[in-house]
Amino acid sequence: GKERLYLGMDFGTSGARFALIDKRGTIHAEGKREYPLFMSQEKVDWARSWKATLFSLLEDVPSHLRELIASISIDGTSATTLIVDSSTGEPLCRPFLYNESCPDALPTVKSIAPLNHTVCSGSSTLCKLVSWWENDISNKKSALLLHQADWLLWLLHGKLGVSDYNNALKVGYDPELESYPPWLLSQPYSQLLPSVRAPGTSVGRLKDDIRSDFGFPNDCVVCTGTTDSIAAFLAARATQPGKAVTSLGSTLAIKLLSTTRIEDARFGVYSHRLDDKWLVGGASNTGGAVLRQIFTDEQLERLSEQINPMETSSLDYYPLQTVGERFPVADPNLAPRLHPRPESEVEFLHGILESIAHIEAKAYSLLKDLGATQVDQVFTAGGGAKNEKWIKIRERVLGLPVSRATQTEAAYGAALLALKGADEK
Ligand code: ADP
Repeated sequence: GKERLYLGMDFGTSGARFALIDKRGTIHAEGKREYPLFMSQEKVDWARSWKATLFSLLEDVPSHLRELIASISIDGTSATTLIVDSSTGEPLCRPFLYNESCPDALPTVKSIAPLNHTVCSGSSTLCKLVSWWENDISNKKSALLLHQADWLLWLLHGKLGVSDYNNALKVGYDPELESYPPWLLSQPYSQLLPSVRAPGTSVGRLKDDIRSDFGFPNDCVVCTGTTDSIAAFLAARATQPGKAVTSLGSTLAIKLLSTTRIEDARFGVYSHRLDDKWLVGGASNTGGAVLRQIFTDEQLERLSEQINPMETSSLDYYPLQTVGERFPVADPNLAPRLHPRPESEVEFLHGILESIAHIEAKAYSLLKDLGATQVDQVFTAGGGAKNEKWIKIRERVLGLPVSRATQTEAAYGAALLALKGADEK
């Protein structure tokens, strides 16, 4: 018979994408949709937008390939939360978006959680749950909490109340204990928490009506997902401890696969579980946004071409958009430093790129100091990844092989989770 295919969907901040791959990872189809803005009571009805986008993406999958699809998985934005009716799955209120803060719930959450726990941030899933619990007047007995990816996957498999341990981290799930901790289970709202599986675990078959409407095969299964940033890491296929992905977008974010778990709230460092390993991460405020304040993307390309990456720049900057840094130095008062500015634009850019590389090096060395596996190879994603001169500068400064990641789309990472789920079935 024909080769089976695996479908991944990514629900990001501005739109959704799909990637359809075979078991070697070759892409057979890809596509993208922006969210339609359905309004209700003068606000965007996000749940309806996401649902419509999910079915639009299924329609966008070429029909002759659909019958080959063995499994489906989805990633969503971290901490995007829905409270739904536990019998119908219908949202009981509008979704809480990933970046929405519920400071009203923070004192309560801080009083129950261990000091500096991941949930002790106003935008954590737990703060959203507590805020809803304390303010909403609807029937709390039949409510259920789901993350964005869980809810979209439920629309496909129909089994209500299933999540994965990546999405569940910010509601307080302990991936090492493989359960919710006692301080959370003793709360009255713990009855709303979904059950948790490993990302890329088969939950059940695709619902019959969807299967027949779209022409998916009888045995097509739906697997648990993950968060968008973890899916983007998975896309790079850095599967061995010591492999890392640096994302050079508006900010600089690093993720390293480690055999040990590390947490340090001072630096915003925490670990996500990935099967028998840990994905350790931190994010600096430096990155491409500062470059964009000074140069256009065309200037960046033209000036970069003239840089000699083997030459050390003597300029020592700390490029930031505004005051304050968290990782690899925790200093809310750290001021941006971009002086002295040389006359040559090429030298100026060289100094900035090299200074960001030093921050990256310091970030990896901090993770090591905190107990993570030592990095041995760095893949790069984001807008800065296409800069070959910067890659050479970073190889020299980091003392490591650095390359552009072949795949960086979160949808590709979600497709790899679908493949994993089909394999383990
Ligand atoms: P976001 O995090 O906003 O999604 P992207 O991954 O799209 O960001 O990357 C955009 C960033 O990439 C911009 O801030 C820009 O400064 C940077 N960038 C674009 N082209 C280059 C280049 N040739 N060299 C270095 N940085 C670049």
